[in-house]
Amino acid sequence: AQANIGVIGLAAMGSNLARNLAHHGNTVALFNRHYSRTEKLLAEHGTEGNFIPAKTMEEFAASLQRPRTAIIMVKAGAPTDAVIKQLEEAFEPGDIIVDGGNSYFKDTIKREKEVRAAGFHFVGCGVSGGEEGALNGPSLMPGGTAESWKTLGPILESIAAKVDGEPCVTHIGTDGAGHFVKMVHNGIEYADMQVIGEAYDILRRGLGLSPEAIGDVFADWNKGDLDSYLIEITADILHEKDERTGKPFVDVVVDRAGMKGTGTWTVQTALEFGSPVTGIGEAVFARALSSHPELRQAAQDSAPAGPNNAITVGDQATFIEDVRRALLASKIIAYSQGLNEIEDGAKQYGWNIDLGAVAKIWRGGCIIRAKFLNRITDAYTNGHPAALALDPYFAKFLADAQESWRRVIKAAIDAGIPTPVFSSSLAYYDGLRSKRLPTALTQAQRDFFGAHTYGRVDTPGVFHKLWAEQNRPEEQQA
Ligand code: NDP
Repeated sequence: AQANIGVIGLAAMGSNLARNLAHHGNTVALFNRHYSRTEKLLAEHGTEGNFIPAKTMEEFAASLQRPRTAIIMVKAGAPTDAVIKQLEEAFEPGDIIVDGGNSYFKDTIKREKEVRAAGFHFVGCGVSGGEEGALNGPSLMPGGTAESWKTLGPILESIAAKVDGEPCVTHIGTDGAGHFVKMVHNGIEYADMQVIGEAYDILRRGLGLSPEAIGDVFADWNKGDLDSYLIEITADILHEKDERTGKPFVDVVVDRAGMKGTGTWTVQTALEFGSPVTGIGEAVFARALSSHPELRQAAQDSAPAGPNNAITVGDQATFIEDVRRALLASKIIAYSQGLNEIEDGAKQYGWNIDLGAVAKIWRGGCIIRAKFLNRITDAYTNGHPAALALDPYFAKFLADAQESWRRVIKAAIDAGIPTPVFSSSLAYYDGLRSKRLPTALTQAQRDFFGAHTYGRVDTPGVFHKLWAEQNRPEEQQA
């Protein structure tokens, strides 16, 4: 046995990950259900490093040093279960099975339990960065036992993206913690993309700027606090012309955004915890709204009344700076909410997750990589804010930005341009700032119609008012 690591599933992600492993001095055992994919990888890239192809799972197991370590990169769901089963038959207790697919974290928790009971280590590992990341350095979010991290850690560190010499991987926590954090990461990515879309829309429909001019604005923003992969590619996209028509490329793309489900999982999970991830939620629903052509057509046909989208400003440069601040403020809120969901998940599932370390490994390799993640790491290294938005650095930014933020939202509302994440993020911020919320009234209503009880501001305890019998004193319950 010569291989120190194996990869199962050699489609786009698996073959790139296998090559990345080989490029970093690992000897990589290869297995794919249909051997043709293995042959293709060897034919095209076999000279890039040490690969040991296997036609059967038994051959694959025999080519691996113990404890065997294999990364599964197949379709999430039933295919992953099928491969785990085969591995349990071919491997021996103590070996490490890694699932690098986009698995739902609850499946990972369940699988980890079952696979551990059979004597193996099971690591659900979030892999971010798409095909390019898999090849040149992904951001990796492994869960599983601390013991499996001892063997797996150095291998993952060798292939992860590097920022300032530090690998973008850390042991997130036990069982499903890695896939959980990867899920929230994807949710944050939805919000991050949506706030960029809202800024674009305000500049396009509101100010009437061309895609090219907006591309210049984004390229400029990319030099400051917003420096990030998503802002960078936005500038590139807006500068791009369609080859066929010569029009701005963005104008020939159908305005329906697809989704593969991780954003939805993030929101569903947040709903289970009661975690207010309004930014991610609005971003998921914004894509959902875009993807109802019949509904949108019916609305167009009935031509609902509203303003014509034009925003008149005194000084354009000043307003564009307001939009930049509104974007960054909304982005900070979305991250703040997402990180709080991770904390809620950690509490729920008994994980010990270091949010500073999480922000650090998102700095490279993944889609949300951004300079401002350094600030998030600092926030959680220097203290433990109840929310990122309350960390002194971010709180000051929000305080300074809020007037711009409000001006932009007001302008968008007056012009009839929807800004679901900008607006809901500001509502969240104002909700946090409020000494008293109207939920006092909500709770009184609940007590009125459902005897759901209420707490008093002046006396501890649980109360219920006998609403129908006005003259009787209120009753205190246990
Ligand atoms: P696909 O999700 O398209 O899956 C194809 C691979 O799964 C092939 O190797 C295929 O084998 C194998 N497979 C399918 N069904 C079975 C089965 N029943 N038993 C055994 N093997 C099976 O490949 P990708 O490379 O796009 O993605 C791999 C994993 O990585 C997925 O879980 C995906 O969600 C995740 N991922 C993808 C990212 C991306 O950007 N694409 C980013 C991060 C994670 P065969 O060749 O024999 O059909």
